[in-house]
Amino acid sequence: MRLYRPEEECGIFGVFNHPEASNLTYLGLYALQHRGQEACGIVSSDGSRLRAHKSMGLVADVFGNPEIFKALPGRSAIGHVRYSTTGDSVLKNVQPIMVDYARGSIAVAHNGNLVNAQQVKRDLEERGSIFQTTMDTEIIIHLLALSRAPRLEDRISEALKQLKGAYSLLFLTETRMVAVRDPHGLRPLCLGKLGDSWVVASESCALDLIEAKYEREIEPGEVVVVDKDGISSYFPMDHVDPAPCIFEFVYFSRPDSLIFGKNVYMVRKEMGRQLAREHGVDADIVIPVPDSGVPAAIGYAEEAGLPFELGLIRNHYVGRTFIEPQQSIRHFGVKIKLNPVRELLEGKRVVVIDDSIVRGTTSRKIVKMVRNAGAKEVHVRISSPPTSFPCYYGIDTPSRKELISSSHTIDEINRYITSDTLGYLSHEGLMKSVGGPERHFCKACFTGTYPIDFPMLDLESQLGLFEEEIHEHE
Ligand code: AMP
Ligand code: SF4
Repeated sequence: MRLYRPEEECGIFGVFNHPEASNLTYLGLYALQHRGQEACGIVSSDGSRLRAHKSMGLVADVFGNPEIFKALPGRSAIGHVRYSTTGDSVLKNVQPIMVDYARGSIAVAHNGNLVNAQQVKRDLEERGSIFQTTMDTEIIIHLLALSRAPRLEDRISEALKQLKGAYSLLFLTETRMVAVRDPHGLRPLCLGKLGDSWVVASESCALDLIEAKYEREIEPGEVVVVDKDGISSYFPMDHVDPAPCIFEFVYFSRPDSLIFGKNVYMVRKEMGRQLAREHGVDADIVIPVPDSGVPAAIGYAEEAGLPFELGLIRNHYVGRTFIEPQQSIRHFGVKIKLNPVRELLEGKRVVVIDDSIVRGTTSRKIVKMVRNAGAKEVHVRISSPPTSFPCYYGIDTPSRKELISSSHTIDEINRYITSDTLGYLSHEGLMKSVGGPERHFCKACFTGTYPIDFPMLDLESQLGLFEEEIHEHE
């Protein structure tokens, strides 16, 4: 059986009613670059026609030439940054996707992953649809095009009712922009105002950059239509318990963003404090794995009464380690990215804080690096519980067999990464840090309880291979 893999983790941004819409969208995408570094694109509307510019590469490279914006005229625009985990990292899969159909043109940008994509696609193909890309997102466009409903809102509602999974979406037509968040609200999406213009972004850090005022989060299951008359909002789908992705707080979102009603930095710092309460240790200094471990390390150090130091210096011109498609590059990547400060670490008992251990590769390299720089003891502390289950909702995690904690105890992982001691934040500690046990979240990568079930969910079949991989590394 083919294992179902998430297609993408992405960022989306849109502006309606601004003379420099595509330029602002470029800036918004720049602030969301951490959500996807493989490709990006912008579609603009001048009121009667949509135009697109998209390519593989970073936002600054794809939109580095100011001439490009002359070819993206108009007062509204949407954009997308993408990281694909499949082999289909080709230009035709770069978003936003734009199509002409019987009722005009429409573009869509999608953050998330549809879990019933294969099934809906098969049905559509049987009804004669021809797909041009291998992305889930194209399914949404086909569903819209097939709808007989006269109003765009109704066509969108009809399409959404057939979808299962995680989706924060932005649509652009000649005269309207529509923002949608799936009923579980898995991915973040917020609404802002810039003078008379409306702005929508995956994370609030993108609003800050263009000096738009944060208005509110787009609610789970909400559809917001923006047109010349302003905004209107409706909830076409049945209500379900919300399940925003807790991993956005752990790793994915930028610390300066406000998501799911909380500032990410403050949550991460609290995770660090909580971690110190749960897994204190006699030590001399606390150092983060930059950048992902920084706020938690500050919280840990504060709570433990230990000095916080930057014992590992990051080369900022290297992307996120994980966002390298090849295992061979990832191995190499840790050294390219981080270098220890020997003078700080020599003879010290060091607590190293990171947000998560996925395969264990990074932690193992870092522990060796810190020890080789002279540390007497290395204690690893992780500001989230063990990541034992893959994500099927749009965050790139490997299959279960590659997740070290799916088949190894904490003692075994401690031995593998060669730390003196290892401690993970508890589930209770995580929940306290994000606002209390009563808040609903998706925590499936920690618990294995998935809020949306799906046909390919067959976890047992993914077990078994990790043992061999560990021996290979040693
Ligand atoms: P690994 O070497 O596979 O154990 O990777 C662990 C590192 O990857 C940690 O430093 C995390 O900050 C980072 N990380 C965790 N989850 C993700 C993710 N979904 N995408 C990118 N990086 C991640
Ligand atoms: Fe987020 Fe984990 Fe749920 Fe995926 S499985 S949506 S990463 S909490």
